[in-house]
Amino acid sequence: MILEKTIDGVKKQVKEWKAQGLSVGFVPTMGFLHEGHQSLIKRAVEENDKVVVSVFVNPIQFAPSEDLEAYPRDLDADMKLCEETGADMLFNPEVFEMYGDTFTTFVDMTGVTQELCGKSRPTHFKGVCTVVNKLFNIVTPDKAYFGQKDAQQLAVIRRMVRDLNMNLKIVGCPIIREQDGLAKSSRNTYLSAEERKAALVLSKAIFAGQQMVQNGEKDGDKVLRIMTDIIEAEPLARIDYVEMVKWDTIEVCHEINGPILVAIAVYIGKTRLIDNFIYGMEG
Ligand code: AMP
Repeated sequence: MILEKTIDGVKKQVKEWKAQGLSVGFVPTMGFLHEGHQSLIKRAVEENDKVVVSVFVNPIQFAPSEDLEAYPRDLDADMKLCEETGADMLFNPEVFEMYGDTFTTFVDMTGVTQELCGKSRPTHFKGVCTVVNKLFNIVTPDKAYFGQKDAQQLAVIRRMVRDLNMNLKIVGCPIIREQDGLAKSSRNTYLSAEERKAALVLSKAIFAGQQMVQNGEKDGDKVLRIMTDIIEAEPLARIDYVEMVKWDTIEVCHEINGPILVAIAVYIGKTRLIDNFIYGMEG
C-alpha cells in the first residue's frame, strides 16, 4: 500500500490507474480507524479496482470550542488497518498541503444543513463540503463511501454531488456497532468507564424508537417523547437534540408517512455522541 502525503502524488498515481482503465473507490475519514471505517473500505475494495483512503483531521469543520486538538490520531494503526483491508493508497496530507496560507473558497449549502447537527454546529457542514469537494477533485473517484452513522453528512454530500453535477456515485453504508449496541466512533475513546456505560443510552433510545415505528406508530412526537425519556433517565447524559426529519431533505416532520430519519446528539459528560435510524428507505 502506498502512503502519500502530497496532492500531486495522489493525482499522478490515480492518473496512471485510470490510464490502465481501472476504477477508483474513495473513503474519506479523519483517521483513528475502527470497524465502522473498515466496513466502508471493505465495500470499496469489493466494488472497485483501486481504493484510496484519506486520513485528514479537517480543521475547518471544527468550531474554535470543539475538539480539534484532542481528536485522536494513530497513523501507524490506520496504515495497518487500511493495508489489511486491501486499500491501495492512504492519503494523509498536512493541513498546509490542503489549505496553504491563502485559502478563501468555501462550499456553503443551505436547506439540508439547517437542522440537526447544522443547528448546534453552524459552520460544520461548510467545512465538510469544502474538504470533501477538494478531496473529490484530488482523487477523482468513480465511487465514494460514507457511513449512515453520520446520516446528515451523507444527505449533504449526496445533495452537493447532485447540485454541483459532480461525476461520481455516493454509496451509503450501514452503522457498525459495538456488541452492546453503541455505534462505533473515534470519539468513544474520550469516554471514561462510567461514561462508556452511560453512553449505551443512545442506542437504547434509537432501538426503542425504531421498534415503535416498525410496529406502526405514525406519530413522530410520541416516538421522540419515549426516546427523550430514556435518555433523560441517565444522569450523565445531556441532550443536544432528538429530532425527526424527512429523509433525505432533512426537513423537520411530525408524521411518519414517508422515509424518515430519526437522529440524536447527546453529551455524555463532555463527549458529544450521535446516533440515528432511517425508516422507509435504505440509507
Ligand atoms: P470520520 O472519520 O468520523 O469522519 O468518519 C469517516 C467515515 O466513516 C464517515 O463516512 C462516517 O460516517 C463513517 N463511519 C464512522 N463511524 C461509523 C460507523 N460506526 N459505522 C459506519 N460508518 C461509520
